[in-house]
Amino acid sequence: MGPDPQLKWTVSCMVLVQILCCYLVRDLSWKWLIFWSYAFGGVINHSLTLAIHDISHNVAFGNKSARWNRFFGMFANLPIAMPYSTSFKKYHIDHHRYLGGDSLDVDIPTDFEGKFFCTPVRKIIWIILQPLLYVLRPLYVNPKPITHMEVINAVVQFSFDMVIYHLWGLKPVVYLLAGSILSMGLHPISGHFIAEHYMFFKRL
Ligand SMILES: [Zn+2]
Repeated sequence: MGPDPQLKWTVSCMVLVQILCCYLVRDLSWKWLIFWSYAFGGVINHSLTLAIHDISHNVAFGNKSARWNRFFGMFANLPIAMPYSTSFKKYHIDHHRYLGGDSLDVDIPTDFEGKFFCTPVRKIIWIILQPLLYVLRPLYVNPKPITHMEVINAVVQFSFDMVIYHLWGLKPVVYLLAGSILSMGLHPISGHFIAEHYMFFKRL
């Protein structure tokens, strides 16, 4: 428990590596772009979502510098290509406070998901769709008003995306975005979602 002084350096390195990759992938064919997006960029982006989790608990700069953590979360967010860190924190507090509580903890799948995705093939589809479900579920289960900080997060994020687009074209933007979506779906690094959040049904 407590701040991790190493985290800011690890996160900064990951963000810089992804910016370097944006330069390197600018002329790749689409096929190889998607390959590297899945095999490399997505791994870093997924790792950044977990860093954003830790930063949302003020691990980077401690509880006394809460604001530094909020803005550092936006910095860690940059390679993910979509605004995420501020909204994540808004809902993540409820995940801990009401752990497992229906309609309060938005990490819990909805009744529909539980009932529909019940065969092996449907479960694979569910895993592929996880990034989409994770983003849409709060809006359906427990919608909250947009905050001032979320607007800042969005402006910072879309400005970054525009800069990358203007420097090196569309391909690096697709590399970042595809990495985020693919690595949160059917990807080895996403195994922790299942390991941490779900249990086998216990038959009596
Ligand atoms: Zn947490």
